[in-house]
This record gives sequence, C-alpha cells and structure tokens, in this order.
Amino acid sequence: TTSTPAYKRILLKLSGEALMGEDAFGINRATIVRMVGEVAEVTRMGVEVAVVIGGGNIFRGVAGGAEGMDRATADYMGMLATVMNALALADAMDKQGLTARVMSAISIEQVVEPYVRPKALQYLEEGKVVVFAAGTGNPFFTTDTAAALRGAEIGAELVLKATKVDGVYTADPHKDASATRYATLTFDEAMARNLGIMDATAFALCRDQKLPVKVFSIFKPGALKRVVMGLDEGTLVHA
Ligand code: UDP
Repeated sequence: TTSTPAYKRILLKLSGEALMGEDAFGINRATIVRMVGEVAEVTRMGVEVAVVIGGGNIFRGVAGGAEGMDRATADYMGMLATVMNALALADAMDKQGLTARVMSAISIEQVVEPYVRPKALQYLEEGKVVVFAAGTGNPFFTTDTAAALRGAEIGAELVLKATKVDGVYTADPHKDASATRYATLTFDEAMARNLGIMDATAFALCRDQKLPVKVFSIFKPGALKRVVMGLDEGTLVHA
C-alpha cells in the first residue's frame, strides 16, 4: 500500500510546550486533540507507539531552582507536572479510539500504574499506546533523557523528537532566510556543529545505543505519518 510503515515500534517525545498551543502555559485541549489525531493515524498503520511527555508547560525544575528552590525538589515538581500532562494525553487518546496506558517512573499508585518494563512491552504488542510519565524518575535529568532511555529499553527503532521547527537547520530559519534543513546528520556531525538536538545526556545515550533520532514538527499536519513511512521529513540523526 501507499502507507507501509518503515518502523514497527517508535518512541515519540512530546515536550510540555507542545500541549500549550497558543496559550502561555497549561494544556490546550484543541492542541492535544489535533496531536492525538496524528498519533492515531500512525497507530492505525500498525506502528507500536510509546510516548514520553514533558512538563515544561507546567513546571521546569531549572527555573524553580534558579528562583531559589532546592533543585532536586524543583525537579520532582517537574516530574509530577509530566504526570498531569500524561493523564490529559491518555484521556484524549482514549476519546479518539486509542487505548492508552500511563506508566509512571515515580509511583503514585492511586493515579497511574508504575513503569514495569515487561508490562510496557506487553501493552505495545497489544497495540496500546504507552505514555511514559515522570521522566526518568530522577532529578537532574530531562524528559529527553527519559525518551532516550525508554526508547532503548523498549527496543524502539526510532526516537522522534517533536519540535516546533520541522527539522534541524543550518541556522535559525525564523531569523535567516538562507537557512537550510539537514535531511540527515550523523551523531558526530551534530556534535561537531554543536546543533543542540537534545540535551547532552540524552544525546550520548542515543549515540551509544545507535538509536536514531528524528527531529520533526508535530504541528505540521501529516508530518508524523511521513516520518513513520520513512519519507523525507524532518532531520534524521543516526550513527
Ligand atoms: N525532570 C526531572 N527528571 C526527569 C525528567 C524531568 O527532574 O527525568 C523534571 C525537570 O525539572 C524538568 C521538568 O521535569 O525541567 C520537565 O521536564 P522537561 O523540561 O524535560 O519537559 P519538556 O521540556 O519536554 O516540556
């Protein structure tokens, strides 16, 4: 068919900001619904989808730390923020006919089930969408690192880093009209050019595990599907 997926299992990293839409903070319902529509489409193609959701739309530990809070405490608040986003995301997924399961790296057992790797694998095999919440469960890390970690753990063939821009550019495309998109880059090239694809910990993990990362825009309709079909969309960073 024209929609044969190039990947069997993917890990999609959504930042908290992706849930804000045009709002200044929080969760924008219409934005979530639109995003989940894109996820539903690739799930219907038979792709197993796991999601790591950020929390920056609600709380960022670095900012809390800068304002005088104990950094680790602020980071735990940030992780809890991702749980709220995960619940909103899973709810929207269920409403669009997907079956979502939230698994948290921090146990909050009345609210979400804890992350247990074999169970996550089982859900994926059953065609359920697994939403990983609470990042890695550790302060001083980010949800990008959680994406790399969970991606490696579940044997995802690709980590998809959803951004506002549709890939990695030679310069900021909003400021420089001559900026061009890289279709592909090696991890070494990305590092040599200091392109800041993910934070250093996440980047190192993906590079070590030879886990390719695709940077793409979640706001571009159909882009997620194009990525999953292996078409020229976004930027592929590979070993
Ligand atoms: N966080 C953490 N450990 C993790 C993941 C996240 O401490 O493994 C905290 C950290 O304070 C971070 C916040 O949760 O600022 C929200 O995560 P992140 O900034 O990665 O969210 P995003 O930028 O993707 O919205």
